[in-house]
Amino acid sequence: MRAFGDVSLSKKIFFTTLAFILLVSGIIALLARWVLVSSLTSELEHRGTAIAQSLADRARGYILDNNVSDLVTLAFDAAYLGERKDLVSYIFITDPDGRILAHTFTRPFPQELMGIPTPTPADKRAVRDMAVLGLPVNDISVPITEGIYVIGAVHVGLNKHHIDNLVGKLRITFLGFISLVIVVVFFISLRIANYITLPIVRLTRSSDELSRGNFDISVDLEGADWTPQDCPAYQNTDLPCWHFDQTKEASDDTGEADSTHRTCRQCRFYRKVPGDEVQQLYNSFRNMVWSIKLYRRRLRESEEKYRSLFVSGPDPILVVDAQTYQILDANPRAEEVYGYTREELAKLPYTALDQDFPSNCLVRFEQASERGSTCIYCSKLIHYRKDGLPIYVNLHACPISYRNRQAYIIASADVTEMIEKDAQLIQASKMKTLGEMSAGIAHELNQPLNAIKMGSDFLTMLSEEGQPVQSEQFRPITSEISQQVDRATDIINTLRAFGRKADMVRERLSVNDSVRGVLKIVGHQLSLSGIETEIDLDENLPPILAHDNRIQQVLFNLVTNARDAIIKREDEPPEGRRIILHTFRRRSEVVVSVQDTGVGIPESVRGKIFEPFFTTKETGQGMGLGLSISYGIVKDYGGDIRIDSEPGKGTTIELVFPVAATATGAKA
Ligand code: ADP
Repeated sequence: MRAFGDVSLSKKIFFTTLAFILLVSGIIALLARWVLVSSLTSELEHRGTAIAQSLADRARGYILDNNVSDLVTLAFDAAYLGERKDLVSYIFITDPDGRILAHTFTRPFPQELMGIPTPTPADKRAVRDMAVLGLPVNDISVPITEGIYVIGAVHVGLNKHHIDNLVGKLRITFLGFISLVIVVVFFISLRIANYITLPIVRLTRSSDELSRGNFDISVDLEGADWTPQDCPAYQNTDLPCWHFDQTKEASDDTGEADSTHRTCRQCRFYRKVPGDEVQQLYNSFRNMVWSIKLYRRRLRESEEKYRSLFVSGPDPILVVDAQTYQILDANPRAEEVYGYTREELAKLPYTALDQDFPSNCLVRFEQASERGSTCIYCSKLIHYRKDGLPIYVNLHACPISYRNRQAYIIASADVTEMIEKDAQLIQASKMKTLGEMSAGIAHELNQPLNAIKMGSDFLTMLSEEGQPVQSEQFRPITSEISQQVDRATDIINTLRAFGRKADMVRERLSVNDSVRGVLKIVGHQLSLSGIETEIDLDENLPPILAHDNRIQQVLFNLVTNARDAIIKREDEPPEGRRIILHTFRRRSEVVVSVQDTGVGIPESVRGKIFEPFFTTKETGQGMGLGLSISYGIVKDYGGDIRIDSEPGKGTTIELVFPVAATATGAKA
């Protein structure tokens, strides 16, 4: 069966047709031969019978007259008349008892013919196959009658060799005819097989080329004077009519689709070309090749488009394996920014550039999918260049499928310069705050300095007067001086820490510490302005991920704004001037609220207060940067600022931060 399956279709068709025709021809030949031979044999028997009967009619008189010599002449004449001599072997006439009256044998009468019974009138004739003198013969005998009496019999021996010769000639004629039929059928089968299989062979060749990736094969179009572009759908020569888009047709209310459909139906290319199934198959294959070519071209164009976006992108773009974090591809900008060549990058894991990628960013994919988005955004991450220098990047990552594997495409914008500028701005704003606070700070420092001065003056006076200093007097003074020095150092350290340039590093921080640090610097200043400060700190507050310096910066801005708003409110009794700093936990958030009894924020300006350089303060008093910088810092730490204000009564500003996750990933 398998061996038969390996035979080509043309051979199958050829041999099947040939075998069928041969079988039919053979059957016809056998039937014809049988019919011809039997009819020829019976025809010859009839002829023999006719000869015998005519002889019997003429012999009757001679027998009655007992004229043997004429009887013999009659027998010879009958046997050698015309072409009969080939057919008739012998003739003999007998009396009713079987005695020979006349015969045509030139030698003694053969014994084997003796005693053949005379046929009765009822028989009319008798036919016997015999061998006479060693030759096969058909002996046909008819009775000679006179009235109701049988007076003799005529025997005519038909030469069977002659009959066989005739049959043989017939057979040769038939064989010749059959051979001719076979030759003709052979060539016809060959032509039919080729005719049927040629388009299939062409199809096979074309599809072989396609599977080898050669899409430049020519697909014959019916009629060379036109191309599929002559029959575009939607005026788009890219889309021939057989690409008619059923969806567009259904959704198009303008009727344009309808008319296009009608036009397309008229198109020669769209119509089914008349032809057999193989031709139809070939046409549909040709259309399919056209479609594949078209979509391949579009795919290539789209690939080129995205490749050029990838290559010419202004930011580094990397493709990273989702399982191993191996870098799979990188654009030229990534080479420039990170200082590695593309080949070097292809050997690196992404974590060589961003160690915290899995912990900082990957976890966000789950949150993103909860929001119904697939991509994530991480801001101000630290990446490392080849030379070890850190850079700040804002990162946008999306999962993709890349060469049959799950991957991420990560675009990282280098924001180092921007962050440095921000830091400078923050620094400037901080210096301004410090400047504003300088009177209060000076006063704050004055207190320990005064105490130190008084203590040291007292000791100096004792030594000038030559009085011995008792250890009971000495110890409390030196201990007080030491405490005051500590206090001054503490204030100076806080100031120094605050004045230091902000650091982008995130650490686990208790916001209570930041609140206390800020109050250390501004607390006295506020009381000098007649503002009471109240703090309500939750001592069990979980940590957040941030940097103390930057959080203090935010709190300074809020407290300064609160102070200004209170000072601005003139109608307020002095005992009501209050700022309340409150920290607490709300679900998975840490909240720091700064509440004041100031003028409040009117509805008209509420939408603008986070804009840079927006201020309602007089020139020289406000830069309009405090809240915009604070907003940027809080957002950096994944937090938010919420404002609740009632004009004329006061404002509450809440800083909300996510609780820092523990090392195991759980919220603290
Ligand atoms: P600046 O303090 O230099 O004006 P900010 O960005 O800190 O800049 O504040 C912008 C504006 O927001 C302020 O000018 C003020 O009108 C308003 N504002 C901020 N905080 C408060 C507050 N606690 N009460 C009333 N108004 C406020």
